[in-house]
Amino acid sequence: MKPSLKYFLLTTILASVLFPSPPPVFAVSDDERGDVVSYSALIRENTSVAKKRSDEVEAALEIISAGRDHQSAIEITTRIKTNLPEIDPKATVRVPEEVLNNLIREGDDYHDLQATLRPLLKFYGLGGRVLPVLFKSEMPVVGSSAPNGLMVSTRAVALLSKKELRGIVAHELCHLVVVDVFRAAIDARDYRTLRIIELFCDAGAAATMEVLERNPKSVINGLLKLQQVLEMEFDERDVEGKHPTTSTRIRLSKEVIGRFAPETRSLMVAPTKAFTPHSHTPSSSFL
Ligand SMILES: [Zn+2]
Repeated sequence: MKPSLKYFLLTTILASVLFPSPPPVFAVSDDERGDVVSYSALIRENTSVAKKRSDEVEAALEIISAGRDHQSAIEITTRIKTNLPEIDPKATVRVPEEVLNNLIREGDDYHDLQATLRPLLKFYGLGGRVLPVLFKSEMPVVGSSAPNGLMVSTRAVALLSKKELRGIVAHELCHLVVVDVFRAAIDARDYRTLRIIELFCDAGAAATMEVLERNPKSVINGLLKLQQVLEMEFDERDVEGKHPTTSTRIRLSKEVIGRFAPETRSLMVAPTKAFTPHSHTPSSSFL
């Protein structure tokens, strides 16, 4: 695996930095203070707003703050929907060369992937605008080439259930809402803001999966599967702290899931056959 792709894999939407495209336009108004967009704008304008908060989970929860039930998930997804960038359906999708060289553009796997993601893309009005791109790789990859490419490797398809795959793709779509904040944080090496963005995307994706399938836990379950394989087989670790720790992500997910669907609070990350404890299982934070 080439270093360039490895770098891309762990940072997913970084593809948008490597393959720059015009930044999406946000519509931010003063009276939206407190919602997803205004908080994003605050982060963009002054990252000290985020730094004042001692708890990144709390910061992410504040971004998605709403009521404490299924209705709140609907409100959150409505905010996400209205703040997605406009995407030209005719725009070219740009992907890393290694993805391009391993493209799969026909066959059952290709059509299965399109069918799996169609309801989610339709939900966000992105059908025909954001294109799922399947490519052959032993590495489990789900990444965004913002604004209009969703790269999914064959290993990811094999590893994840369809619900988990949709959950992770929902996380990638949430990145589109905060893509310019993300780029600014990358430039500034502002890892704390990057971690909050990841948590925001986890929470937004959980809300999405709650609304779509009443299954918000598919997001964290899928993320943990990907992370575990990346660590165990590819020795991929986020040593710089660009991503939240696993335990932080789990904590946020429990909070979010507890809000939307209290009865599912205890249902987290059932171990699967593929993840029988190993001598080099990364950490005890995998439940
Ligand atoms: Zn992310």
